[in-house]
Amino acid sequence: MIIDTHSHVNFNAFKDDADLVVKKTLSENIQIINVGTKYETSKSAVGMAEKYEQGVFASIGLHPMYSASEFIKIKTDPNEEEFLIQENEFDKEKYRDLAKSKKVLAIGEIGLDYYYKPKTALKLQQFKEKQKRIFNEQLDLAKELNLPVILHCRVAHDDVIEILKRRGEKRGVIHCFTGSLEQAKKYIEMGFYIGINGIIFKFNIDEVIKEVSLENILVETDCPYLTPPTAEEKRNQPIFIKHTIKKIAELKNVSFEKVCEKTTENAKNLFLI
Ligand SMILES: [Zn+2]
Repeated sequence: MIIDTHSHVNFNAFKDDADLVVKKTLSENIQIINVGTKYETSKSAVGMAEKYEQGVFASIGLHPMYSASEFIKIKTDPNEEEFLIQENEFDKEKYRDLAKSKKVLAIGEIGLDYYYKPKTALKLQQFKEKQKRIFNEQLDLAKELNLPVILHCRVAHDDVIEILKRRGEKRGVIHCFTGSLEQAKKYIEMGFYIGINGIIFKFNIDEVIKEVSLENILVETDCPYLTPPTAEEKRNQPIFIKHTIKKIAELKNVSFEKVCEKTTENAKNLFLI
């Protein structure tokens, strides 16, 4: 069995064939955690998970790209949803309500994202502070509900690590990891897993994959994004997780099965599946 610990079959990119994609995925013995990026996509992740008796789960949260969106111009992503609903405050009550579903296994994707940023120093400071405040509010909710977190981080690892350390956080995964080996070690020391997906075909983190133990790795697709170049289709989907697993197995010089077995065990341990 394989668990795709970070997918978005709840997104608009799958609006015409989500059920087909899910059924195909489950028939190949792959389970899915669909991750929300705001209230609407969190709600659709929960709705999709509720439709299936087993193998489909949800994570809910507000992505850092949106949490301080008044400071930057963000483009509508048609893959995500048709109408971009502005959501730049975290309404804890609404998410707490969604978390009543037994299928909600985590809070995420949450974190910090400084990739698109405002130009003036003052605005940049306010932008970072707002993201940090909303990140903390969501970490509080995870603590209250006793759920692990799925972290998103771009060009902000030092700040994310500082916040997690200060709060004594220890349950979660740093999704789509592209940081340094030193940063990976800091996350692992705190108890976090390193999430590996198809970005490894674009962005060289071979050293991290070789050095980090399989005990600390989770696998994911982040579909519909980050399609492995060897996949049969342009749109990524959970079954293409095999391409990433194959590359991890090659780099670590272990069997494909070994990577499946260990990373599935890790996912079960973290998300209590
Ligand atoms: Zn994602």
